[in-house]
Amino acid sequence: MKCFECNLELEALKERRYRYVESGLTNIYLTGVTVLRCAKCNTEIPELPNIKSLHLCIALAIIEGSPSLSGEEIRFLRKNLGMKSKDLAAKLGYEPEVFSKYENNRLTIGDHADRSIRMWYLIQKSKEVENYKSLIQAVDNFDKIGEGTIWRKDIEIPIASCFANRASQIQSSSTEIH
Ligand SMILES: [Zn+2]
Repeated sequence: MKCFECNLELEALKERRYRYVESGLTNIYLTGVTVLRCAKCNTEIPELPNIKSLHLCIALAIIEGSPSLSGEEIRFLRKNLGMKSKDLAAKLGYEPEVFSKYENNRLTIGDHADRSIRMWYLIQKSKEVENYKSLIQAVDNFDKIGEGTIWRKDIEIPIASCFANRASQIQSSSTEIH
């Protein structure tokens, strides 16, 4: 494969840590990824074998690990469900505009809406997630979510184990990014 800009052959770098900003999320790092890099312009292209499984994996990491859903996390979960924000709001019994306000950080999500989105996601994906019942239980048991917790963790997704055994292999690092 060649660089679109430079027309140079890309070099393959194995076992890299790749910040997956293409997901729309700023705190997701994929580990063990082969990255194709242009030596001239430093463009990097990750080799991602199965985007659908990867995005499910990321969604579950958010549901299990995010202290409070951020705007970008809400957008990621909603898009992954293939829903418009007003349709998600209608399903969960909220005003039509409220989810786009969350997503654009014009409104801070509260505990109830936060929990509802996580639960709704898990129910919709129940057939694809082996341990969905225990995840629902986990969300139900969270002491306190939402209510404007302001710091976020980086989430590391080991890409190989993601496809083998989705959520159980995910580790969160303790690095705070804001
Ligand atoms: Zn290049």
